[in-house]
Amino acid sequence: MVIVGGSAAGLFTAAKVAAGGRQVRVLESKPGLAPPSRTLIVTDHFRQQLGAAATHSIVNEIRRFELFTDGRSAQVPLAKPDLIIERSRLIPELAKTAEHAGAKLDFDTRFLGLSPNGHGLKVQVESGGERRELHADSLVGADGATSRVARASGWPPIETVPLMQAIVRLPKDCAPDTTRVWFVPDDTPYFYWLVPESPERAALGIIGEDGRDTKRCIERFLAKKGMEPLEWQGARIPVYKKWVPIRRKIGNGEVFLVGDAAAQVKVSTVGGIVTGFRGAIGVADAILRNSASEELSALRRELRTHWLIRRTLHHFQQGDYSQLVDLLNASARQSLGEIHRDESTKLLWQVVRKQPRLVLLGLRGLLMGNGGKG
Ligand SMILES: Cc1cc2nc3c(=O)[nH]c(=O)nc-3n(C[C@H](O)[C@H](O)[C@H](O)COP(=O)(O)OP(=O)(O)OC[C@H]3O[C@@H](n4cnc5c(N)ncnc54)[C@H](O)[C@@H]3O)c2cc1C
Repeated sequence: MVIVGGSAAGLFTAAKVAAGGRQVRVLESKPGLAPPSRTLIVTDHFRQQLGAAATHSIVNEIRRFELFTDGRSAQVPLAKPDLIIERSRLIPELAKTAEHAGAKLDFDTRFLGLSPNGHGLKVQVESGGERRELHADSLVGADGATSRVARASGWPPIETVPLMQAIVRLPKDCAPDTTRVWFVPDDTPYFYWLVPESPERAALGIIGEDGRDTKRCIERFLAKKGMEPLEWQGARIPVYKKWVPIRRKIGNGEVFLVGDAAAQVKVSTVGGIVTGFRGAIGVADAILRNSASEELSALRRELRTHWLIRRTLHHFQQGDYSQLVDLLNASARQSLGEIHRDESTKLLWQVVRKQPRLVLLGLRGLLMGNGGKG
């Protein structure tokens, strides 16, 4: 089988499928394993997914969140620390694990298109400037938010939003084990964050809706906070709105999607690493056992809950955020810190049980959403 895309989701899928005894070939358009730096924050679930291989990419641990809005703040201590990982370390580690399991990696090889043939799929690629054709019984598209595999196989395009972050010197008043989040609804329906990657450096980021506005907002925010960007990281990331079926039959062959290509991203926080790995486990189950995977059903529930949270928050105005931060009483904060974001349904119920007035605030957000542009 062939996997298109040698990044987080593709390499994790490759390792799982190859470990199950199938021949796996990964096609990656980049010339080699030198992904640009990207500071990522993930929950502790990452460690359970990767086991010993996780250690190499972890650069810091986060023990507390501080939420800010309109002069108010709330602190949320985390029972299990979040992990800060560096993508330029993660990808080579995943590649090593995939190769160790028997997968073959082809760099400088771009997927161009596919068509059915007698036994499966004809896969057109460009490699080292030359066009070639490969055969595959099944193909996995792990080629990111603008997946060419998805388009070639008839999946509709998915909506994306811009995410930008600047690497800055960690401000003196910010502890290296604390992530800060600012809700500024005039700038973005999402939020700003400051994620320390070491005692010296942090990533200050924003998710926006329009690329140019997002850049203007982050520059203004940096200037307001007196921070200088040392380097920039950014890309468009998918917005999960509904479940993307991961499997399609094309002639006698099968095509699967995983990771950003299938919008497997928690839309409330736009985290896609842990969810992409869960999608990879689901695809590996489907390929190796031809069975519906419990992991995929759980992932689908998880992504839906994040969509519900996002729909609620998306229409919040300043007054709603102020109320939200005020309503986070001690016991609601404790639940937020005890249960991580990759168990969002459990998290939501616990928080609401501890502070029922949040339900009314949430309903208000949903109703405003229905009355607004959508
Ligand atoms: C700045 C930034 C910060 C982020 N922060 C976080 C975070 O804190 N926590 C978190 O969980 N997530 C975060 N994300 C999201 C996360 O990085 C993505 O969800 C994740 O990297 C998606 O992995 P993927 O393997 O599905 O796709 P990608 O990483 O997009 O990989 C796709 C791969 O396919 C290759 N490819 C594309 N087209 C072709 C082709 N035609 N032929 C061959 N190869 C091809 C590409 O070169 C690439 O290697 C962030 C994203 C950005 C941009």
